[in-house]
Amino acid sequence: MDGEDRELSLREDSPTEATPSPRLNQRQRVQQQQSSKTGEGSTVEESVSISPQLTKWIKDNAEDLKIRQGDRSWAAGVVNDFRENLLKFLRSSSDQPFFQTAEFLTTGSYFEKVKIHSADEFDMMLKLQAPSRLIMTELDHGLFYRLDLNRATRSPIQAFLLENERTLSSSKVLSEMYRLVRKFLKTYKVPDSRYRWEVNRKLPYSPAVTLSLCRTEDNSEEIISVDVVPALEVHSSQGWPLAVRNGPDVNDWLGKKVRQEIKSLPCYFVPKRLKGRNQGNKEEAKESWRISFSLIEKKIITSHGNTKTCCESNATKCCRKQCLMLLKSLIEGLKQRFPKELDDLCSYHGKTVFLHTLSIRFNDSMWTPQQLPVCFLHLLGCLEDHARRGSLPHFFVSKCNLFSTKVFPRRALAFLVNALEEQRRQNLPLLKPPAPESPLKPVTPSSEQSSLLTAVHSLDTVFMNKMVVVFAVPLFAVALACALFLM
Ligand SMILES: [Zn+2]
Repeated sequence: MDGEDRELSLREDSPTEATPSPRLNQRQRVQQQQSSKTGEGSTVEESVSISPQLTKWIKDNAEDLKIRQGDRSWAAGVVNDFRENLLKFLRSSSDQPFFQTAEFLTTGSYFEKVKIHSADEFDMMLKLQAPSRLIMTELDHGLFYRLDLNRATRSPIQAFLLENERTLSSSKVLSEMYRLVRKFLKTYKVPDSRYRWEVNRKLPYSPAVTLSLCRTEDNSEEIISVDVVPALEVHSSQGWPLAVRNGPDVNDWLGKKVRQEIKSLPCYFVPKRLKGRNQGNKEEAKESWRISFSLIEKKIITSHGNTKTCCESNATKCCRKQCLMLLKSLIEGLKQRFPKELDDLCSYHGKTVFLHTLSIRFNDSMWTPQQLPVCFLHLLGCLEDHARRGSLPHFFVSKCNLFSTKVFPRRALAFLVNALEEQRRQNLPLLKPPAPESPLKPVTPSSEQSSLLTAVHSLDTVFMNKMVVVFAVPLFAVALACALFLM
């Protein structure tokens, strides 16, 4: 999932506490933060004057990313049909009553409208309701938990308890999810008979049932990938676990009221096993759950403004989402360019830096569309700073450092710092990696498509070049409408 699961794989044992930079003492960090709070003091903004070319390059890329969003419609239709029918199947499936009350929660970047480069990854969380209060026992620094019912139950969840009749087994829930999805696919047909869904091999540390949409006639590579993640909802009356009880630091940015609202939302646990536990705790690690903030991240990114009116109209537009898209795009570009060296890097690192930056640099006036290049370079500078310090606290679980050496080896981090420095020095050559060939490309354009192509030939040629990717997909008419709207 674009939430933590697809993006963030914590590879080893519990993450260590965020380690402060050896070169920055506490006072310096506070000063740095304070200067950021007044909108000054970013290393990037102070030390780099942005050339007109770079300004144009950043703005062009942001537009380009917006245009590619048009690609999504076809894929979204296919995925939504799958989702609706899977839910119907689960609700009517009498052999598994615990899943009968399931509901889908929309999460992941597709639904946050910041998915980039391709329309091919979708995430969906399937909400399963915990029947009673849970005892949540931290297994690391607050990201992973053992979950126990506080009393015995005869409700359908009992099929997923360990022998002690209290501990909820994450592996049993995930296995059942696999079984149900496989059973569902035996009868489900994709509306377009040229395609079929296939269940991917189960990966030991993934909380998701991953499916691929492939063409029926050949053994082609996947066109769309979907993660279905069962997510256990803890009743909101219970509150969040101790490690995250204070809620994220959003007082200055979104206000105390929103912080309270966020904290009053239910928290979710996804069946993800913890790596690298010693022998004694093996079963505990195997049956562990990871707390998930995907839904809250979506809420925050949707209502991201310091004022309620941010992005409500053209007059109050900001460039925050564009900055996140550009950062994700750059991370994707870096990963494509250095797949081995930057294997540990994922877009969740970008999202985390984005959320920290927004909470410090909170004023809407600092994110006007005109300031996009400055804001993006500031954000990039923040990622570089975090990487250089080896410290990127999880936005919600502050003791958990996403750049600790246990989860992000020192060598990879040094490589990342160099790669980011290089990008900045060379005016971001990787911002726009070559778009992958779309597997949805029609062999020959239909007459309708041809006439539309002719119709847009009068458009400015630079713009047409940008549109090439969009035209490659069958639903390009939607993209065209989108592009014309943006012009
Ligand atoms: Zn806004």
